[in-house]
Amino acid sequence: MAADIAYPVELVAPDISAYRRGNVGVDYVQTFDSGVAGPDAMINAVIHGNELCGAIAIDYLMRSDIRPARGKLTLAFVNPEAYLRFDPAAPGRSRFVDEDMNRVWTLERLDGPDNTVELRRARQLRPLYDRVDRLLDIHSMGTYSDPIMLIHGLEKERRLTREIGYPAMIACGAGHVQGLRLIEYAPFNDPATDRIACLVECGQHWAATSADVAIDTALHYLRALGMIDEATLAAHRRTDPVPEQTVADVTHGYAIRTDDFFFTQAFKGLERFAKAGAVIAVDGGEEIRTPYDDCILVMPNHRAVKGQRAFRLARLGGGSATD
Ligand SMILES: [Zn+2]
Repeated sequence: MAADIAYPVELVAPDISAYRRGNVGVDYVQTFDSGVAGPDAMINAVIHGNELCGAIAIDYLMRSDIRPARGKLTLAFVNPEAYLRFDPAAPGRSRFVDEDMNRVWTLERLDGPDNTVELRRARQLRPLYDRVDRLLDIHSMGTYSDPIMLIHGLEKERRLTREIGYPAMIACGAGHVQGLRLIEYAPFNDPATDRIACLVECGQHWAATSADVAIDTALHYLRALGMIDEATLAAHRRTDPVPEQTVADVTHGYAIRTDDFFFTQAFKGLERFAKAGAVIAVDGGEEIRTPYDDCILVMPNHRAVKGQRAFRLARLGGGSATD
């Protein structure tokens, strides 16, 4: 069954101990201020502790001396307590310590009485998220899907991700999750402000290519913000340029209803179904079909169980991202 696919750990989790002290009074956070007016931008790694590519990207930017030509750049290892528990022999276990840190970004949770490892860290970082005006949150996925830029779908987010121009797929939509993702945290998810967050899913958690995509997404983001120039991007990039981005709108999130769920194929994500009615999964004997033509399967989760999200569906929206 697809759930039994084993994913080799091709990446090595970088030693981040040198970054612990940081330079802003918060562990594992560094800020570089160019002294020139410009964006107050941030790049996040390892909000999920097992997603190594983001840590590799930040480590690469640090060691390569990539610094902003204008504005202020903050680089953060978001959930170091989870990341430091990463074990290549059990690579799935370090996603979080107490709870998923990308579900806590509601005022109820942040201001509430709960006291988990992830909430404590979220409260520590919150002043940064209340201040920065651009955020790139780096993630990875459970399958060998091609990379996807995820945004909520606000016009300002669509504009920024087109300017970033990488990776090839942009998926817009609510997370369809319990709680809120960081990119949906109040200051970012407000059409009335100019503050923008986006989330990149770079590929499979431990695939070598995911690190290349993470580094390249960070470089494209910095270039789009005018913080590095084209020559720096060209000198460091590891993957091919994207001639044209595709934008899809996430329309459905499917949560498993029974203990007898399976996908009809070992889907890896971004499969396109030309005609409505394609059977993609069976749940308690009921066939789950694509609801419309030109439907895209987004981030199938072969490990999901009853009550958890197994996949999202997206509709090709608006054709070229350069419209
Ligand atoms: Zn993640």
